[in-house]
Amino acid sequence: MKQWEDNIRKVTPYVAGEQPKEKDIIKLNTNENPYPPSPSVQKKYSEIALDRLRMYPDPEASELVTSLERYHGLDKGQVFVGVGSDDVLSMAFLTFFNSDKPILFPDVTYSFYPVWANMYRIPFETPFVDDQFEITVSDYHRENGGVIIANPNAPTSLALPLDRIHDLLRHNQDVIVIIDEAYIDFGGESALPLIDRYENLLVVRTYSKSRSMAGMRIGYAMGHPGLIQAMVSVKESVNSYTMSMLSISLGTASLADEEYFQKRIIQIKETREKTKNELENLGFFVVESSANFVFAKHKTIPAEQLFHELRERKIYVRYFKKQRIENFLRISIGTGDEMKKLIETLERIIT
Ligand code: PMP
Repeated sequence: MKQWEDNIRKVTPYVAGEQPKEKDIIKLNTNENPYPPSPSVQKKYSEIALDRLRMYPDPEASELVTSLERYHGLDKGQVFVGVGSDDVLSMAFLTFFNSDKPILFPDVTYSFYPVWANMYRIPFETPFVDDQFEITVSDYHRENGGVIIANPNAPTSLALPLDRIHDLLRHNQDVIVIIDEAYIDFGGESALPLIDRYENLLVVRTYSKSRSMAGMRIGYAMGHPGLIQAMVSVKESVNSYTMSMLSISLGTASLADEEYFQKRIIQIKETREKTKNELENLGFFVVESSANFVFAKHKTIPAEQLFHELRERKIYVRYFKKQRIENFLRISIGTGDEMKKLIETLERIIT
């Protein structure tokens, strides 16, 4: 072994859902939106002059930040933007979780949290969700170095009611509490109205799901200006130009089309409920979903087998070979047609 190898950072990276190379795959494995971005985004895209790419983008991404502050009825200085919410969350871990005490997040949740904690050498503990995958908030009533909860949670799809989040905040006023609302537009209640009451609360959102812009990589955090300024300082100590000119422009344009946005969300929620019923008719147990995916377990056939059989038939869903959830599949909600094909294929596999 070479001596310099001792100095290489050893990490176990997050494993993202597979992005297929083939074209004719029904892709229900990364919770993308099956519909295109809004017409206002398409219009803006067609108007952007290529010559603008010569220049660096605005390091503060002011156009996008200001539009988001306005959209959410916030004051100046209450929004931080990043390259998808993964970047925003990673910056938040780096900025806020610097205690010797462990940060807390549920044992079943977004599997990037332990990766960032390990990467930044943050101690962490993971209180168990119960057998119904519910988070027990009293588990978080103890000394800690910070808390992060995904609401709705992933991969379980379950929402935590706002009064429970309020309780979490009441018991955690000396640390930063992050609520990751990647899926909130599809169900559950946002903690956003609480940011004025709790200066230690950070709410994180993404353009990847409800805004159909996963490929653009836009995420943002909302909170007290003091928190946002701290994140900006850390970000500017890593990379000034995180947001590309395109993400600033198209991210802003997306906010102009509320009607389209709401219409697509309703459509996805309707498809979700229909899919849930159909899966139940095929012998699945399906968790009550507040997201754009369902978490389901078949009464007899192991999830891993179903995952492989679907994959052979060109339908990709997500399977986590992980204790407590190894018998579940996470299935993103696609178009009505895609879900019809999924159900027909499962029918053939199962019967
Ligand atoms: N939070 C949760 C709970 C997620 O499931 C995801 C999607 N993988 C993200 C954050 C990150 O999404 P993005 O970086 O695309 O905004």
